[in-house]
Amino acid sequence: MSATLGTLLKQLEPDWDIQIYERLGDLAQESSNPWNNAGTGHAALCELNYTPMRADGSIDIASAVKVNEQFQVSREFWAFLVETGALPDPSAFINPTPHMSFVWGEDNVQYLRKRYEALKEHPLFQGMEYSEDARTVRAWAPLMIPGRLKSQPFAATRIAAGTDVDFGALSHLLTNNLVEAGAGLNEGVVVKNLIKQRDGLWRLTMRYDVGSTPVEPVTARFVFVGAGGYALNLLQKSGIKEIRGFGGFPVSGEFLRTDNPDLVAKHRAKVYGKAAVGSPPMSVPHLDLRVVEGTGSLMFGPYAGFSPKFLKTGSVLDLFASIRWHNIVPMLAAGLSNLGLVRYLFGQVAASPASKFKELKAFYPDADPKDWYRITAGQRVQVIKKDPKKLGVLQFGTEVVSAEDGSIAGLLGASPGASTAVPIMLALIEKCFPDRVEAWKPELNRMIPTYGQPLAENAELAAQTIARTAKTLQINP
Ligand SMILES: Cc1cc2nc3c(=O)[nH]c(=O)nc-3n(C[C@H](O)[C@H](O)[C@H](O)COP(=O)(O)OP(=O)(O)OC[C@H]3O[C@@H](n4cnc5c(N)ncnc54)[C@H](O)[C@@H]3O)c2cc1C
Repeated sequence: MSATLGTLLKQLEPDWDIQIYERLGDLAQESSNPWNNAGTGHAALCELNYTPMRADGSIDIASAVKVNEQFQVSREFWAFLVETGALPDPSAFINPTPHMSFVWGEDNVQYLRKRYEALKEHPLFQGMEYSEDARTVRAWAPLMIPGRLKSQPFAATRIAAGTDVDFGALSHLLTNNLVEAGAGLNEGVVVKNLIKQRDGLWRLTMRYDVGSTPVEPVTARFVFVGAGGYALNLLQKSGIKEIRGFGGFPVSGEFLRTDNPDLVAKHRAKVYGKAAVGSPPMSVPHLDLRVVEGTGSLMFGPYAGFSPKFLKTGSVLDLFASIRWHNIVPMLAAGLSNLGLVRYLFGQVAASPASKFKELKAFYPDADPKDWYRITAGQRVQVIKKDPKKLGVLQFGTEVVSAEDGSIAGLLGASPGASTAVPIMLALIEKCFPDRVEAWKPELNRMIPTYGQPLAENAELAAQTIARTAKTLQINP
């Protein structure tokens, strides 16, 4: 997120002095690290949580359309950076990977059929295929059919034009570029506090991560708190009134991973299933091809869990340290109205390795435990916020929190995440620099030619944009 915002701002105002502070010894070791997230270019091509069924049995596609439009904005910006030579060979961070949904059981098959009918003519979902035929699905995903009960009804959709994104590589490439353009990168430096001075500037106090010795404080006109799970904590320290009432609910996770080249050769897709009843949307199981530094692996998960840490490398005290008088009520109210989620998480924590492996077998019936090992995923801190009716709600999306005067902003929450970093950071720019946006429009339009135009409402523009960015990013299937 910080690398994206820095790149946008450097493009808009090349003379601005940008300084980046990273507490760890290297960038992108938290959520953006390729092994800490699933690397799905989220465009709602296969994620069923974006297309819920309404009470009348019809499919609501509004969230899917929105996420897809947002992903197209990210693709446009990345394509611009490739065209201008700022990003090198696109396969260093993005690779074509078909996106599939796969469900079993009569009700789920019916749901998927309806979802396909609702999306197949939409300009943003062109090329979607549907099948209930074992031979066809086997051709799409060879591991998923052998060993399956013949009596089990199943269905799948497939869009060949999906993507796998290495957000760690992208973060490094963007930041290297920023540094070449004059930005400062300060690694191993922990931001400890942010104080608004009388002159309106923010004063940042910092310490080296190793040894905890103080770093010379700096002042800034504008601060982006792109600290992932620690954004809540730093925004609370800044004392801005807009953070009052916000809390965080951390969810940890695990993936199963295999690097067996025979299996990797047979599964060239990202296959998303349906979340278990009562489970949160981010725990939708999926069996994914991942391409990191040119090498393929398969990942299955995530298995959700609970840890009070706000970062993978955080402290077990993080959750407790985030409690303030102003967020106690929203946090308690959100907790009480999400007891199902709490039960689900504790169930996942208590589940035996054998019962967890069964979930993989539902996707890949002949899976052999010998091929798979566990890896710990990144931490997600879900947003808890005030609600006039329910007192407090748990939210699964992201939320930009900024001071009234636009001098500081931070990003809370996790999903749809890195795929939509560009539109999220554009929204942040519009919120924090409202009086400059008009003057920046020509450059914004150069970077993102469809800036401000909803693609869902213009089929021709959507088709042109998708084709153009697919060609530049070399992600044509
Ligand atoms: C299990 C899982 C699966 C996911 N799958 C996907 C997916 O398939 N597709 C997708 O698009 N998104 C996915 N996401 C979401 C995506 O990973 C995140 O939205 C994205 O990586 C967040 O980027 P960020 O820069 O905000 O945070 P991070 O990548 O976490 O970076 C925050 C940085 O701030 C640093 N920091 C923290 N505190 C301080 C401090 N006090 N001083 C200095 N530095 C500090 C940290 O060390 C870290 O480097 C997933 C997330 C998880 C956890």
